[in-house]
Amino acid sequence: MLKECLVGRMAVKPAFPKVIHSRFQNEKCHGHTFVSHLPFSLLCTDADYHEEKRLLNGMLPKSQVTDPLAKEGPSSPSYDWFQTDALVTIVIYTKQKDINLDSVIADHRDDSFRAETVIKDYSYLIHIALSHEIQEDFSVRVVENVGKIEIVLKKKENTSWKCLGHPLENHNSLIPKKDTGLYYRKCQLISKEDVTHDTKLFCLMLPPSTHLQVPTGLHVYFKLTITGTEIVKPYTPVSDSLFSEFKEPVLPNNKYIYFLIKIYPAGLFTPELDHLQIGDYVSVSNPEGNFKISQFQDLEDLFLLAAGTGFTPMVKVLSYALTNIPSLRKVKLMFFNKTEDDIIWRSQLEKLAFKDKRFDVEFVLSVPTSEWNSKRGYISPALLSEFLKRSLDTSKVLICICGPMPFTEQGMKLLHDLNFSKDEIHSFTA
Ligand code: FAD
Ligand code: NAP
Repeated sequence: MLKECLVGRMAVKPAFPKVIHSRFQNEKCHGHTFVSHLPFSLLCTDADYHEEKRLLNGMLPKSQVTDPLAKEGPSSPSYDWFQTDALVTIVIYTKQKDINLDSVIADHRDDSFRAETVIKDYSYLIHIALSHEIQEDFSVRVVENVGKIEIVLKKKENTSWKCLGHPLENHNSLIPKKDTGLYYRKCQLISKEDVTHDTKLFCLMLPPSTHLQVPTGLHVYFKLTITGTEIVKPYTPVSDSLFSEFKEPVLPNNKYIYFLIKIYPAGLFTPELDHLQIGDYVSVSNPEGNFKISQFQDLEDLFLLAAGTGFTPMVKVLSYALTNIPSLRKVKLMFFNKTEDDIIWRSQLEKLAFKDKRFDVEFVLSVPTSEWNSKRGYISPALLSEFLKRSLDTSKVLICICGPMPFTEQGMKLLHDLNFSKDEIHSFTA
């Protein structure tokens, strides 16, 4: 029941003179020893202490708080912390209802701790050089309906912390997401399996010191140093199969990210990626992209147009829609490839179509053999107008499109010509 409530203090409590802090040390609360609770500061200097505490309590004039959202409505998040003998909990109050575990990306590296909370098109950052050592792993909990996030750090030693640490760059600020820059952590290659003659399923493991879940429809950037130069390319996480929603995970959830990646022998990045050995590392960024899960709201017909590895964002979109959207009546995928050998997860797609009557798949080949007796050619008005039939005249539709840039651009033009509105189309681009 308490999880449902905001447990905390009044916002306009007068600041305590520092001398009385010790009164709160070792205070017993429901069997836990809460040391350094409310009156203790995040920061380690007196001036910082007062500033931080006033800011934390919403007592600074609005203009002094970095809050670009203030003018537009939602107010700036705030945070607090408390400790027990063994744990330090950082609590972030986002004051938003649509916060979930995907919204928080947290990393502990050396003595610094960074937590980015994505709120609409903004990021709220906690960025601290911790005052004491912590264990590598930590946990994140979200109370969704009140937008409260709790990050529970494990102390290395059971000593009482006088302060949480020192602020680092952009600490306690709400900044436009586009200005946050890419933050990377090193992920280990766990496995690599052939899927087609040139496409492989890569499994990467996040470090224990990271909390990161890539939301449906978003991608990440990989970074490798190739002949002395850092090269960055985007890739879209998938699930390990189209049926992973229905089976027990072989590996523990949330620590593993899967990617379907086509290796171009003459490419700059993918041959290097392919040469990585199991156990090697690749740097992976925070999620990026402009797909919004709210686009699925009350959706009835979902049409997916994919060419080659443009299939990758469709994997999670497809699974999410079939699992989570009760209004959904129909999902159709039109998958363009050169040859039959190029089709990624063909038998899984056919099995899914057999298993779930709402789902249908059509393969279109641009360089088919003479035996191919299904659709052939390129994206065209004829193919699209036959494919994009609403289940009801009034159905709410979403069309997702992804593939080589000229394919996507041509597809978008054709969709506009067929009178689909902007809100009914989502194109996946960088
Ligand atoms: P590149 O060096 O870019 O070359 C690719 C091919 O083009 C090679 O055959 C090369 O010989 C040829 N080429 C390069 N330059 C020229 C030129 N000037 N003229 C003619 N030919 C040329 N890919 C995936 O496999 N899986 C994914 O999940 C995925 N997700 C993506 C998400 C986003 C948002 C975007 C934008 C792209 C995504 N991609 C994905 C593509 C990926 O980012 C890379 O572009 C791809 O892996 C190729 O990288 P590369 O450096 O190996 O090849
Ligand atoms: P590919 O095998 O070269 O092409 C797939 C199919 O698309 C083929 O049938 C191809 O026909 C056709 N096609 C190519 N260009 C076309 C055009 N201009 N008009 C109509 N049809 C066209 O594809 P790929 O090598 O897998 O490349 C996939 C692309 O998707 C990459 O460019 C990648 O960057 C992009 N991608 C983007 C995202 C994202 O989120 N933005 C995610 C994943 C992948 P022909 O070869 O016979 O011409």
